[in-house]
Amino acid sequence: MAATLKNFLNALDCRQIFYHEPHKPHELVLRKRTLVRFFLIFLFLTLTGCEQTQPSRSEFALGTVCTITLYEQGDKTVYNNIFSRIREIENLMSVNIPSSDISRINAAAGIEPVQVQKETFNVIERALYFARLSGGAFDPTIGPIVSLWNINGDNPQVPSREKIDASLPLVNWRNIELDAEKRGVYLTRRGMTLDLGAIAKGYAADEAAVIIKNAGISRALIDLGGNILIIGEKPDKKPWSVGIQNPLDNRGSVIGVLHTAEKTIVTSGVYERFFKENDRRYHHLFDPSQGYPAQTGLLSVTLVTGVSMDADALSTAIFVLGYAKGLSLLKTLPDTEAIFVFEDKSVRTTSGINFTLTDDSFRLQP
Ligand code: FAD
Ligand code: MG
Repeated sequence: MAATLKNFLNALDCRQIFYHEPHKPHELVLRKRTLVRFFLIFLFLTLTGCEQTQPSRSEFALGTVCTITLYEQGDKTVYNNIFSRIREIENLMSVNIPSSDISRINAAAGIEPVQVQKETFNVIERALYFARLSGGAFDPTIGPIVSLWNINGDNPQVPSREKIDASLPLVNWRNIELDAEKRGVYLTRRGMTLDLGAIAKGYAADEAAVIIKNAGISRALIDLGGNILIIGEKPDKKPWSVGIQNPLDNRGSVIGVLHTAEKTIVTSGVYERFFKENDRRYHHLFDPSQGYPAQTGLLSVTLVTGVSMDADALSTAIFVLGYAKGLSLLKTLPDTEAIFVFEDKSVRTTSGINFTLTDDSFRLQP
């Protein structure tokens, strides 16, 4: 319980959080203090057993704060079903749950293939698709490097060069063998570990959307720790407004607003999880070829597209590739747009993005 609360507070401290502001019913903005207040009210209602038509519900899952907002016909059962489904996915795909498919695959690395649930198999297949597409910038076998840096843990530290060099041969998506008939997954080398942290949150958002649509709800917002998925249109048919986090500011301030139709909006940024040593920031988005946090001059990449799983994988891949290579990749993908925020505080967007800069300490480049 203490660890869960600590994780929750950590998540509030540094995450990009979108919420539904009461006096602007259809605006999405980022503000940490209000979310804390909202959570306390939610906690109070839960603890007192008070039945209430909730405009939204937040729970801690997937190592982050997940908030669902159902605008119409959203009853308790639909919220319950959505959060059960998210936990079901967590139980299959978390590296921190020993009985999960992913933990079982990791424990059998170099020993034998492991039969997994169909959906775990499908997500791994999709992860391999993005590994190939990005030339390995996205690599689901990044696990040994993630463990070495321990950025999510209590004592993160810069590992020695020797340790990184020893782990790097274990990071290679080509060493995953899939057997579609048996739904078997085999990591061919001992010590290899899968980590779906950069793709499974997107999958969970897509699955939450399926439940919402099947319940006949035509307007909703899914926010899994900054992985946003919008369902439906605003009643006035105007675009939705989504605040884009200032990557240099932990307090939930935004650099501008994205105006968008029904889409998924997913950001990978240096501010999500990091630690500082000797005044240097070490973040959680690793270059699989180096074993170090990717240094490409970017602070964040926001992907805007139709499928949240794809946006999740792509935001990580493009952050690691950097602007030039990332843009080349984007140009090959239909209906996929992006916002890039750079270390020099310049901001670039692809041509299909409708973005208004609100923080004039940043510069919007043509
Ligand atoms: P993204 O860019 O989407 O993902 C970054 C994460 O992906 C990194 O943290 C790392 O794990 C991995 N990664 C880094 N570089 C690469 C790369 N080049 N290619 C591929 N992957 C890379 N967090 C907790 O603190 N505790 C938990 O118990 C926990 N359980 C989780 C269970 C599940 C099923 C999932 C999906 C997530 C869980 N998380 C947990 C959160 C997870 O760690 C976050 O997804 C991640 O920290 C950050 O995601 P992001 O969206 O900020 O960044
Ligand atoms: Mg991602």
